[in-house]
Amino acid sequence: QPSLQKEDSDVKGGFKGHDMLAPFTAGWQTTDLNPLIIEKSEGSYVYDANGKKYLDALAGLWCTALGGNEPRLVAAATDQLNKLPFYHSFWNRTTRPSLDLAKELLETFTASKMAKVFFTNSGSEANDTQVKLVWYYNNALGRPDKKKFIARAKSYHGSTLISASLSGLPALHQKFDLPAPFVLHTDCPHYWRYHLPGETEEEFSTRLANNLENLILKEGPETIAAFIAEPVMGAGGVIPPPATYFEKIQAVVKKYDILFIADEVICAFGRLGTMYGCDKYNIKPDLVSLAKALSSAYMPIGAVMVSPEVSDVIYSQSNKLGTFSHGFTYSGHPVSCAVAIEALKIYKERNIVEKVKSISPQFQDGLKSFSDSPIVGEIRGTGLILGTEFTDNKSPNDPFPPEWGVGAYFGAQCEKHGMLVRVAGDNIMMSPPFIMTPEEIDTLISIYGKALKATE
Ligand code: PLP
Repeated sequence: QPSLQKEDSDVKGGFKGHDMLAPFTAGWQTTDLNPLIIEKSEGSYVYDANGKKYLDALAGLWCTALGGNEPRLVAAATDQLNKLPFYHSFWNRTTRPSLDLAKELLETFTASKMAKVFFTNSGSEANDTQVKLVWYYNNALGRPDKKKFIARAKSYHGSTLISASLSGLPALHQKFDLPAPFVLHTDCPHYWRYHLPGETEEEFSTRLANNLENLILKEGPETIAAFIAEPVMGAGGVIPPPATYFEKIQAVVKKYDILFIADEVICAFGRLGTMYGCDKYNIKPDLVSLAKALSSAYMPIGAVMVSPEVSDVIYSQSNKLGTFSHGFTYSGHPVSCAVAIEALKIYKERNIVEKVKSISPQFQDGLKSFSDSPIVGEIRGTGLILGTEFTDNKSPNDPFPPEWGVGAYFGAQCEKHGMLVRVAGDNIMMSPPFIMTPEEIDTLISIYGKALKATE
């Protein structure tokens, strides 16, 4: 049995494959795990260990908004590392970059008023922090029963215990005994997949808002603390909201004194052609989660923004309840904050929102022109984010057999032709860096076309 011998020789310390228990990686227990090792980045491109060049059509993981090797971000990190590589923000000690970034962030958000910022290291930690803030808030108000969260099927809010619970993707729950019992899930607002025959987008949105209201009434409004939503769903397959959706959902949430949390981890800082996803869909949240493009991913950082109403309660009641005892060693890490301040400066100086707005029609229209392909069910997106779903007969109800691996084949073809996309089953996701040039978008569309042709 030669193959067994090969396996045995690759067994390391009782485990097979490489030495890392890699996140979200299928097959790490096999011997033929042969990861693509990325070694260098330059603008919108990354290079593997063999020097092969790939257009980074997902911007890392929806995050390297300014692409690779932006010298100003490198300089901001280096300067701060030289001056003060670390000090914490606990117990009324802090650092200048964290104070400056908080101030700057509050000024950038205008969809509703935000009063305070809490720093984390990631989007998952931001959403975990949201739950604690909301619970603390309701305890402070003497409403100990108002603790449940409503999130949506197919949402992605992270992979810690709580953020995975909020997420509406079965893979994040199965085998982990999740979701936590205080999390409920309502409908995914995917019109193409879930609308009834003859139902318009507006009618679909009305039905979903009614379903949300019925869920709240069934559970008891006095038990529901908050509703959390991504303005455009990302990892669930890139799902922009149907017409009038957020208007109707917000009306329901408001009616029952339920806080609205906007998970802007993917949408913020220009991705949709607006500074925030909330600006695009007229969302007026009470709390906002940020990460990813906040530092263009050059350093890990996340943040929560809190409205004056929520922060006032937390401040005024903390005498009674005690300190808000929550935080991370690296909350407000000075190097991450210095890089984020510089990223925000660059977004402003280069008018990045307008830039995204100006190149997104080329990106959207170019890729949507492949909608007629016999294997494409739907191509959807807005700004610089786009999802492709492969199905048979153009129907959401005719998936290809999973063993055909249509999405995986398409992803491999993109890779072969020099482009990296995100593959999840038969869903393909793209969110290129904001710095893409029209020529690079042409290249992206051309590689997509070649990969699609090969997959058909
Ligand atoms: N929220 C959204 C909308 C995300 O897309 C992600 C990550 O993709 C997260 C939260 C989690 O962020 P992180 O991976 O930084 O923990």
